[in-house]
Amino acid sequence: MPTPRTSRRDFLRLAGLGSAILGAGASRALGADTRAAAANAGQGRAKNVIFMVSDGMSVSTLGLADAWTRFAKGESSRWLQMYRELPVVRGLSETASANSMVTDSAAAASCWGIGERITNGVINITPDGRRPTTLLQKMKAAGRRTGLVTTATVTHATPAGFVATIEKRSDQKGIAPQYLERGVDVILGGGTDYFSAELVADYRKAGYAHLASRKDLLGWKGDSPALGLFSKSHVPFEVDRLHDASVGAQTPSLSEMTEAALRRLSGGPDGFFLMVEGARIDHACHGNDPVGAILDQVAFDAAIATVLKFIESHPDTLLIITADHGTGGLQLNGVGNEDLVGKGPAYQGTTEAFRRLMKFNRSQEVLGRLTKGLDPKKFLAAAQDATGLEFSAADAPKVSSLKTLNEALPKYVGISWTSKNHTADPVEFAAYGPGAGSFLPFQRNDEVHVKVLRAAGVA
Ligand SMILES: [Zn+2]
Repeated sequence: MPTPRTSRRDFLRLAGLGSAILGAGASRALGADTRAAAANAGQGRAKNVIFMVSDGMSVSTLGLADAWTRFAKGESSRWLQMYRELPVVRGLSETASANSMVTDSAAAASCWGIGERITNGVINITPDGRRPTTLLQKMKAAGRRTGLVTTATVTHATPAGFVATIEKRSDQKGIAPQYLERGVDVILGGGTDYFSAELVADYRKAGYAHLASRKDLLGWKGDSPALGLFSKSHVPFEVDRLHDASVGAQTPSLSEMTEAALRRLSGGPDGFFLMVEGARIDHACHGNDPVGAILDQVAFDAAIATVLKFIESHPDTLLIITADHGTGGLQLNGVGNEDLVGKGPAYQGTTEAFRRLMKFNRSQEVLGRLTKGLDPKKFLAAAQDATGLEFSAADAPKVSSLKTLNEALPKYVGISWTSKNHTADPVEFAAYGPGAGSFLPFQRNDEVHVKVLRAAGVA
């Protein structure tokens, strides 16, 4: 593959464009239909609920994904555009679990699943051993169709937290049959590893379509329940889906999975509950992979666009968009001298540094796989190929592994991290549509469950 490098001419061009594009502010307005639908917002009962989770997303990730779409397309992200144009209830959510100020995804999703804080690592079993009925079970009992869409394994902690009851989140083979027992209508994501041939046969016997590729998904008419598993483990990162044709051919986007799920779910008479998770923002942040995180957030944003389009013709839908916790503490830091004395405007290298990220063409997960066991010089060449960066003569010899690549990156792209772990910061919480008015500018994660049920007329 030819190695794209950022030339000096590019730098000058980008430096000139940066402020113009950031200043361009707006973007194509949301459709008139969306704004008309907004007239119904906050009133009446929600026939449908769509609950979207960006796993591991801090506010900084939301902001950087917005900057990315401005540079790439001259448009704001849909999420922030929604804040500007629609009557959204926007707030913060606290994210703690029963045993820690920092939650894991199992305890966080269980808050939404049962309305109680539990111990990290457990799915919907309380510290005193109770096993309350979960959100999807309650929705199902009330006649709603139900669906789970994710870029993780479908049996991963976040989707499982809305449905399942199990002592350990790692027991994904124990979670897989619970979706069938509990009647989840549409299950789309990764994770064939956790579904035995016998279990897939059980799903088929119960009338489920079995989808195994992007082609299967796009050709599926939505005339039956469906189990769609598009990878052995998690669905590949968006950056790899975009830059590797074979990955792109096999793997649907989060937006395509969401659209397919809506085809099935919206066909029922009594409404539905759908969870949509952008799961791999969290995984990228655990690996301190900036483009992995930002592009998966951009893919999540495309799923928001798909959902807003659906709501134009289905205004009786409550939409919630939030995160379960932050991960990694990703930030874009000012690049360049802060001292104004004779050195030009402060931080003037920042935009140019950020735009270097747009030449990255691989996730660090794939780079790590491709360079396993390579000698340091070959690693450097592969790292330059994957990032489009040209390291200085002083830095180049140090870039010999993923770890040392990450140590070198902040100087070139301005991004740095606080850890490879989850963080305690409060997260975004947005609600739009019937029932949105019951959410507050600040709430605890365990207060959401009952409000969703009440909005839907189920509790
Ligand atoms: Zn995580």
